[in-house]
Amino acid sequence: MRIKMEEIKKSNEKGKKVVRKRVKVTKKNTNKTTEKTAENKPAIVKNQIIKKQNNLPKISVKENKLPKVSKKENLAPAVSKKDDLTPTAIRKKNKSIINLGLEENPIAIKEDFMFKKENLKIIPLGGIEEIGKNITVFEYGNDIVIVDCGVAFPEEDMLGIDLVIPDFSYLEKNKEKIRGLVITHGHEDHIGSIAYLLKQMNIPIYATKLTCGLIQNKLQEHHLDKVAKLNEVRQGQTIVLGKMRVEFIRSCHSIPDSVALAIHTPVGTVVHTGDFKIDYTPIDDQKIDLGRLAELGNKGVLALLSDSTNAERKGYTMSESTVGEVFDKLFLNCKKRIVIATFASNMHRVQQIVNSAVANNRKIAVCGRSMINMIQTAVELGYIHAPKNIFIDLDMIKNYSDDQLVIITTGSQGEPMSALTRMANGEHRKININSNDLVIISATPIPGNEKYVSKVIDDLMKIGAEVVYSALADVHVSGHACQEEQKLMLSLVRPKYFIPVHGEYRQLIAHRNTARQMGIPADNIILMKNGKIVELNETEAKVSGTVQVGKIFVDGLGVGDVGNIVLRDRQHLSQDGLIVVVLTMDSEGNVVAGPDIISRGFVYVRESENLMDEVKAIINIEVMKCVDNHIRDWSTIKNSIRDALKDYIFQTTKRNPMILPIVMEI
Ligand SMILES: [Zn+2]
Ligand SMILES: [Zn+2]
Repeated sequence: MRIKMEEIKKSNEKGKKVVRKRVKVTKKNTNKTTEKTAENKPAIVKNQIIKKQNNLPKISVKENKLPKVSKKENLAPAVSKKDDLTPTAIRKKNKSIINLGLEENPIAIKEDFMFKKENLKIIPLGGIEEIGKNITVFEYGNDIVIVDCGVAFPEEDMLGIDLVIPDFSYLEKNKEKIRGLVITHGHEDHIGSIAYLLKQMNIPIYATKLTCGLIQNKLQEHHLDKVAKLNEVRQGQTIVLGKMRVEFIRSCHSIPDSVALAIHTPVGTVVHTGDFKIDYTPIDDQKIDLGRLAELGNKGVLALLSDSTNAERKGYTMSESTVGEVFDKLFLNCKKRIVIATFASNMHRVQQIVNSAVANNRKIAVCGRSMINMIQTAVELGYIHAPKNIFIDLDMIKNYSDDQLVIITTGSQGEPMSALTRMANGEHRKININSNDLVIISATPIPGNEKYVSKVIDDLMKIGAEVVYSALADVHVSGHACQEEQKLMLSLVRPKYFIPVHGEYRQLIAHRNTARQMGIPADNIILMKNGKIVELNETEAKVSGTVQVGKIFVDGLGVGDVGNIVLRDRQHLSQDGLIVVVLTMDSEGNVVAGPDIISRGFVYVRESENLMDEVKAIINIEVMKCVDNHIRDWSTIKNSIRDALKDYIFQTTKRNPMILPIVMEI
């Protein structure tokens, strides 16, 4: 699936046009300064009500039936200054909602008697039976809303692959229907593929402030930041996307500004939890809006899609703030330099490191590109609170004593190229670990990474460092709900249908079992597969077909050009190496030069002269046979050389290298 430059260009132009129009509309209601900002920064339209025009989706602040928070937001100066909230405008807005035929309004209900409602389709294009590349399609009639657009990281056998993104074929086919891409939070498995999708279609994106900031960083890397239609929404806000309304509900996860979604459709409301945990003492005091979830539950929820990551774990996930207490204890009276490795994306954790550093008069140096980018964005947008000058450049650490320093680094998974691994190997250019270092690994290994993490811990200890990791102290908690929290979610939302998402198969099964315990009938629990269509209406749910899904590999600048055949070759090469046979023949079929043998990753040629002589002899015999049989066809000659060599090499070495005969004719 190569990206067609023309298409990017076209969609870029389209994007520009739309933004220009949008600026025109705001002119009436804004002063000149705002206009200018909008022109300079067409990508982000902040806190703005976008009116229904040119088929653009409309953001509207939800009316009447909202909890208090949202009402307050209606009156927030940021909104009212920029946007036209005069009675006429509100009337107009109400009218447009009426025309959309939504549930609250009597005219729409009347219409429903006349026309049979369509079914709501939910189609996961990724994120089911896997961790990563979360993306789900909600389709009602002629409208599609996409929720999240993440990447997965390559598995061990995907040699040389950088990223795995979803197959967007279904979206490509239904481009005209797409009203928007809604993002729940700023983690890679939810935002990492956005740039690749935008290269195929420049659709509007809706996300909260921090999530927008992180998406913007990604778009910049792909030079899409100027053309993307990135719209900032607030927790508590509702936007209208075609016949669906999407409500952003404040949630709680390991990254701030996370949301759960209520997707209101003509056949009912669907709640999508996004990634969540229920933390009663979150460090930013932003508790998940359980009240709103309960309210939705009371009104009636058609279906719940819920995070299954920790569905196998009993009990509750501990509060993030418990980690801060452990940090404080470790920092107190510590005379050593402290190095903490964690996920770059775990901003709450970074905040707690900052807090402990401030309390103990330590400066912070940050190591690892992703960590630096993440912290920079979070500090700029006000999601990490830190006193001025607490962060110092890594080059400045020599000016401070060990007990005045904290180093935050990437590499908590023991990734071979990461900063922490290089420190442990003594290969880091700026940080030399020694016995006066306390290294805290504030993460647990993701399944598959255990041996890397163990190796790093061993290496650090061998150098003499003191190492604290999750098996020794509570220096990490999960960002995902365990069983008891999942039960709370189920009991508040009380959905008619339950769809476990975001997890491996066994996690989805565990989540299903929890829902069964909670009294949800087995028939009302839908185990999805990527690409399966589930169709829902007020009375029934059925799996109605499949759409194309898959894994698209990103390798360097290539998207989709590495497929299974290339991967198979890479695996073959990585296991048994390569032999290249070069020989030059004249038109009579006589060998005039060679055969020359080049080998990589098979045997060390200089120490295997006998083998190489044998190989040459076999090639000569094969060529002679071909000449005797009057075979002039190059590919037949190449094949017989390959087959003869393959047998011989396997018999003598029990190895199976890739054999590449090259025949040149003069
Ligand atoms: Zn997440
Ligand atoms: Zn996730």
